[in-house]
Amino acid sequence: MSRRTVQWGAIAIASLGLAGLMSCTGSEAAAPEAVSSAEPEQAYTATIENAQPIPEPLDEPVGRVNLNTRFSFSGEMTQGGFIRGVVPDGTVRASLGGQVLEVADDGTFFAAFDRDSAGSLDLVASTQAGQTVTEALTITPREWDIERVNVSRRGGRSSEAYWKIRKPEYEAINAARAKVTDAQGWKQDFIWPVKGRISGRFGRQRIYRGEPGSYHSGIDIAPGNGVPFVAPADGVVVLARMGFSLEGGLIIIDHGMGLNSAFLHSSKIAVKEGESVKQGQYIGNVGATGRATGPHLHWGLKWNSARLDPLLFVGPMN
Ligand SMILES: [Zn+2]
Repeated sequence: MSRRTVQWGAIAIASLGLAGLMSCTGSEAAAPEAVSSAEPEQAYTATIENAQPIPEPLDEPVGRVNLNTRFSFSGEMTQGGFIRGVVPDGTVRASLGGQVLEVADDGTFFAAFDRDSAGSLDLVASTQAGQTVTEALTITPREWDIERVNVSRRGGRSSEAYWKIRKPEYEAINAARAKVTDAQGWKQDFIWPVKGRISGRFGRQRIYRGEPGSYHSGIDIAPGNGVPFVAPADGVVVLARMGFSLEGGLIIIDHGMGLNSAFLHSSKIAVKEGESVKQGQYIGNVGATGRATGPHLHWGLKWNSARLDPLLFVGPMN
């Protein structure tokens, strides 16, 4: 597959369709057929004995067997976006920008691009035959919503007293995100966990007198207090607890392949840690617990350490 780029702007994102997001070119590539070891002579003998016609031998001449010698993939090659696809046949190791990729038994993989991803990354496969297949990806930069304010950045949260509370919370979140499950949600077309007014977009950032604050790590949806929300894709609940100082009622769902969703500020949690959930399953209710100015669902998506834009997974809300 040749080098591809996706041009992005605010309008392109607004008009993003699911078909464009989710079609996987990998499924269109011809599946490699196993070369039959049956000898043509044996097949002929069988025909005589059974006195029945048999189909033409399935084995093709070796030179014509279809092999996937390249990566095939599709997705959103932009900051905060992702791709899914199939590695070349015989791949023993694949990486993106030097980061090793998990590859499923059928050769499928997931990879994603951080909010601050570099503009070009190499997708590399090493094959059993000792070959290296490299696909140079161009990651389109986004124009983030940057607000410059003439006030000092608040520093209260970095106090020692606060860190005492925060440290165990931080560790619990990191431990949950490090859990590896066999969830398969990463393969699915994601759905909105709840629909409502979008009150905060991914990537938005304030600059306080030249000092950048941390950017908004998810999307905020404000359908009203107490409104139920659902799992956007299949997964395993790796954390489900009320009472986090910032996140309030927090649910983290692992979707497999290093991809996970976090849902913050819940007024009620309807799932338990270790539970498998299906796409569309009710998991909690929107609230304003933790540090929130009003009731909303903050939905964050991470792939390993990369923070992703949920909007690129679900498309515009209809
Ligand atoms: Zn938020």
